[in-house]
Amino acid sequence: VLRATGIRKRFGPNEVLKGVDLTVLRGEVLCIIGPSGSGKSTLLRSLNHLEEIDGGRVELDGELIGYRRRGHRYVTLPGKQLAAQRARVGMVFQSFNLFPHMTVLQNIVESPVGVLKQPVREATATAMALLERVGLESKADAYPRQLSGGQQQRVAIARALAMKPRLVLFDEPTSALDPELVGEVLEVMKDLARDGLTMVVVTHEMGFAREVADTVLFMDGGIAVERGRPEDVLLNPRQARTKDFLAKVL
Ligand code: ATP
Ligand code: MG
Repeated sequence: VLRATGIRKRFGPNEVLKGVDLTVLRGEVLCIIGPSGSGKSTLLRSLNHLEEIDGGRVELDGELIGYRRRGHRYVTLPGKQLAAQRARVGMVFQSFNLFPHMTVLQNIVESPVGVLKQPVREATATAMALLERVGLESKADAYPRQLSGGQQQRVAIARALAMKPRLVLFDEPTSALDPELVGEVLEVMKDLARDGLTMVVVTHEMGFAREVADTVLFMDGGIAVERGRPEDVLLNPRQARTKDFLAKVL
């Protein structure tokens, strides 16, 4: 279970998150939608402490993320413990961020071997199974530049899964792709959702949100304006701001 309560974040005078709550149960998919600049990426990054937050707390399976208590104050965890927490949360970005000088297979086994200390043989076997899962077993020895954007993003997903994360955060995983490549990435994500992976997905793909999300959260101006089942939020929004947004994007 992921539970964030009262998340606040400001950049200088700009208050970007104004007290956001969210809960994602194990095996659930939360889709976050909302206009540009509404704080979606900042919220997602706060969930695994890629952003320091100014208020609120994030807990994953009851463990406080990013901070520990010292007296009646909270202090940031030391780097090693932050790294251990992050290793349990996968992240997939808009830009695929593969290591260009490593093959597909090397990209995937890097962290399981380097961070989790898995034996190379075991990590390689897992990586090949994951590549098969995302339909790219024939590309194990290719370099990222030899792949299409959609293929690179599927490798990035396999790389995240190789760490056996409890939760995977996706930030607009298809918005850098040519339109004809979006579908193959969404198919992989749907497959993972069906298999019970816990996911938080920032997306502009309303069809995906409608079909896959257990809960849709609409953000605007750093506030979680509306949330609920996709058919309610996307088809019968209650808030005027949600209606306005959907009228523009649908
Ligand atoms: P988009 O749909 O365009 O990705 P978003 O909802 O993800 O938008 P954020 O990237 O979270 O929005 O940004 C929210 C606000 O915070 C914006 O006003 C942005 O300019 C500001 N912001 C984000 N990151 C930083 C930063 N590192 N320093 C200063 N301001 C930032
Ligand atoms: Mg963003």
